[in-house]
Amino acid sequence: MSMIADIAVSFAPYSEKKHEEYMNDKQRAHFRSILEVWKKNLFLEASSTLESMRRTKEGLADEVDLAAYEENFRLVLRARDRELKLIKKIDFSIEALKEGDYGYCDDCGIDIGIARLEARPTATKCVECKTIAELKEKQLINA
Ligand SMILES: [Zn+2]
Repeated sequence: MSMIADIAVSFAPYSEKKHEEYMNDKQRAHFRSILEVWKKNLFLEASSTLESMRRTKEGLADEVDLAAYEENFRLVLRARDRELKLIKKIDFSIEALKEGDYGYCDDCGIDIGIARLEARPTATKCVECKTIAELKEKQLINA
């Protein structure tokens, strides 16, 4: 089974020039391409996985195969669920790019930074705010 295309995008990283303005047109175009190609890959992967599941089912011989098939199918559905969530995040980021909000922390407003966006193109928080949010979440769960 093919895994979710987390880092399906193998773009050359953006080479930032000294004193370059943050989130200028070139940078935004760079991240927009990454997001759009990533989304397209997720769609392609989802449909090819389903297609291969369909073909497999036709060739199944007995009940043991069928049980394995059903277990596999559950995994595929879970992966698809993750893909759909990821696609939603990607759409959100593309929208933020259009609005000019992309690349800035949702919580404190500072630059998220090219390096972090390169690693996580859908990031909406800076490292510090992300860490605080995760700590809060853990405390809520443990309380
Ligand atoms: Zn922040």
